[in-house]
Amino acid sequence: MSLDNEKETKPVRDSYLPYGKQWIDDKDIQAVVDVLKGNYLTTGPAVNKFEELFASYVGVKYAVSFSNGTAALHGACFVAGIGAGDEVITTPMTFAASANCVLYQKAIPVFADICEQTYNLDPVKVKELVNEKTKAIIPVDFTGQPAKLDEINKIAKDHNLIVIEDAAHAVGATYKGKKVGTVSDMTMFSLHPVKHITTGEGGMITTNNKEYYEKLLQFRSHGITRDEDKLLRNDGPWYYEMQFLGYNYRMTDIQAALGFSQLEKLDKFVGLRRKYVSLYNEAFSKLEQIKTPYQAPEGNSSWHLYIIRLNLEKLIGSRKEVFEALQNENIGVNVHYIPVYYQPYYHQLGYEKGLCPKAEELYEEIISLPLFPKMSEEDVNDVIEAVKKVLSLYSK
Ligand SMILES: *Cc1c(COP(=O)(O)O)cnc(C)c1O
Repeated sequence: MSLDNEKETKPVRDSYLPYGKQWIDDKDIQAVVDVLKGNYLTTGPAVNKFEELFASYVGVKYAVSFSNGTAALHGACFVAGIGAGDEVITTPMTFAASANCVLYQKAIPVFADICEQTYNLDPVKVKELVNEKTKAIIPVDFTGQPAKLDEINKIAKDHNLIVIEDAAHAVGATYKGKKVGTVSDMTMFSLHPVKHITTGEGGMITTNNKEYYEKLLQFRSHGITRDEDKLLRNDGPWYYEMQFLGYNYRMTDIQAALGFSQLEKLDKFVGLRRKYVSLYNEAFSKLEQIKTPYQAPEGNSSWHLYIIRLNLEKLIGSRKEVFEALQNENIGVNVHYIPVYYQPYYHQLGYEKGLCPKAEELYEEIISLPLFPKMSEEDVNDVIEAVKKVLSLYSK
């Protein structure tokens, strides 16, 4: 083997670089240990503190924590009054949970296609799908870029719909100068380890609506209340009432301690993500084989994901070949997302291919590159080198 060949077959990296990873420091660990040594392991002072700090970070009246983001979405659908036969419009370019929460309430997810540039829900398509059965819209701030929230909220207002924003990707992002979490009726955040900040598993709903807030608290705790003003009768100090069928979706104090400690680092984490994105954008701007992510001027993304879109006309390899070649360079690539209605369960419910052509076309051409605050600039440069190497191998 010639030296040249050896260089070509040797991977850019010796060790595997994941696409996302949490960043836990000693202060985080200490915050959790403090809870373990204290009196409350669940729904105690740490949960209250985390919720208050989260609400004040976002700039809303209320934040309600949940055991995970999916449970939080379920809660939002419940308090929005979504029920059997109702239709809820969402995007197929998301994780299944954005639509599953509608099914939990025996309602019908309706998929609207995405915008060509931002990959977010297209308000024009949303409007076409609104009818008398429509109850809510669930826009997703895909990759951390806010959806067209003003347009979507306007449609909702005109038709008396509720907007539940899935901002699992977008904590720390802004839309027209406003923090994501303040714009829609309710906004959901996820605290899964691949997201910006983590509680292991966890979720949050932010809202300015007191009625939603109180109902969310009750929903995450079996539908039980001890609030004297809400009780139908009162047998004594031990008395509580289960007034509707809720769930046990509470966050523990152990998780919440990790959460408020992580929250202190959120702006730093977002800053590092933005910095790495600008390095990627600069390095890839002149490559005609790929399209870098478009950013609409009204938003400032918090960059959960960095997605390149292949220009397959300029390549001899398929997306699968390029993807596998990047894996062979030890780069932890991924695909976000398989359109939700491609899933066998959705197919079984009657959803067919062809529903959202733009999302389907996008799915064939995308690759997510590693992006997380704990990666180093050398890691970023490895990704850039690997992408350039693979693209030049597969170029026409
Ligand atoms: C992560 C994620 C969720 C679900 O959050 P969990 O905390 O994992 O339950 C929902 N929607 C989107 C878009 C996500 O990325």
